[in-house]
Amino acid sequence: MSDFSLSMLADVAEGRLSVEKRVRAFLQKCRDNKELNAFITLFEERALEQARAIDRKRQAGQQTGRLAGMVVAVKDNIVIKGAPTTCASKILGRYDSPYNATVVERLLAEDAVILGKTNMDEFAMGSSNENSAFGVVKNPHDPERVPGGSSGGSAVAVAAGLVDAALGSDTGGSIRQPASFTGTYGIKPGYGRVSRYGLVAFGSSLDQIGVFANDPAVSALVLEVISGHDNKDSTSAAVPSFSAKSNGDVSGLKIGVPAEYFQEGLDPVIEKGVRDLIDDMAGAGAEIVDISLPMTDYAVSIYYIIATAEASSNLSRFDGVRYGRRAEEPADLTDMYARTRNEGFGDEVKRRIMLGTYVLSAGYYDAYYNKAMRVRRLLKENFDEAFKKCDVILSPTTPSTAFRFGEKIDDPLSMYLQDIYTVSANLAGISAISIPAGKDADGLPFGIQAQAPPFNEHVLFNCAQFIHNLKSI
Ligand code: GLN
Repeated sequence: MSDFSLSMLADVAEGRLSVEKRVRAFLQKCRDNKELNAFITLFEERALEQARAIDRKRQAGQQTGRLAGMVVAVKDNIVIKGAPTTCASKILGRYDSPYNATVVERLLAEDAVILGKTNMDEFAMGSSNENSAFGVVKNPHDPERVPGGSSGGSAVAVAAGLVDAALGSDTGGSIRQPASFTGTYGIKPGYGRVSRYGLVAFGSSLDQIGVFANDPAVSALVLEVISGHDNKDSTSAAVPSFSAKSNGDVSGLKIGVPAEYFQEGLDPVIEKGVRDLIDDMAGAGAEIVDISLPMTDYAVSIYYIIATAEASSNLSRFDGVRYGRRAEEPADLTDMYARTRNEGFGDEVKRRIMLGTYVLSAGYYDAYYNKAMRVRRLLKENFDEAFKKCDVILSPTTPSTAFRFGEKIDDPLSMYLQDIYTVSANLAGISAISIPAGKDADGLPFGIQAQAPPFNEHVLFNCAQFIHNLKSI
């Protein structure tokens, strides 16, 4: 676990703690845990320079930012000026970004120190981190097992205490599923809460940046800092900020429990852990309501149509002309495009581009893409109806705990079923969090997922705080 607590921020602000010393200790810890492979790029000099600048600022009596002293990592599909962005793909080669993502600007403006860029599934496609051109990331709870994906590096950096918090991206579960597998808090805010400017697009109508942390208060504070409308992302929402402070009081909270999330395929240990926590909340005065989300059965199917369709369009920009790598000595322009993409993309990315192109093709558009978009609307309506009866929906985050390397990689369908409980939140644009809920007999963590209407993240943090308080008794 990270040794971070919010009181550390006061220690830094009041000069009892040097940021440089803290960063040095984290860098050492990263070196000691190199075999986890959580980072693609570690900013040794850059992070120390940043730390010294914050220390100097404080010594000069200037006001330091709200995150001064906090050490964070950023998933490698979010751009940082003057640093490589790889998306864990070969196709980007030595691409260095000429600008900062809005979330990075906001972290820096509040004096967070960025320690490095984390490993991930290539272009955020996957649920195990096995699709990285930079090697797998190991789960610190059992190095023979996957950390989940696609934000596996960010989840592991937090779980192993290599940073205080990390940013990830979530298109269909890529923050929540690895959070569940590593025993961390992982929030995907409502669509539009956080600017996507500078996030390499996968499925633009689904993608959101969110936060991993070991403590709900840290997670809420970082999310508050990176949130807010941005002129550079017209889908970012002009909604009031939320308060990062929650006391974990759930009395009077209406909790919806969807029958469809407790069906066949769910590990009974996870089911029991989740149901016990729901009972604990009822014991603390929450009201339990049975709800139904009948379109859940179609969620994975429509997600893999819509996400791949959007990906096939978004990834067309990696053509050997604009970014990174280009095939050598091509015969002609078409050969250059074809070879660049064939050599640069991994198998899963190619599979998704082909699927996406197929569902958008003239002959199949109505049968697949159009149909999926209609069912997406029905799914959204299921949530609208449910939220008339409850404030928050609780369920497992994943049907199983972390699986072993190689177990699912050759069977894409079983890998896609990992996302059964998480994709709906992205399709409906609502906010969702995975909260550490317990461990199975092998000591592998699992999470409980809370879902709330789009900009009700405060409700999620309140549930997280309740469970956090319960576990720390
Ligand atoms: N595992 C899902 C996928 O492979 C989700 C990915 C994500 O959220 N980026 O598409």
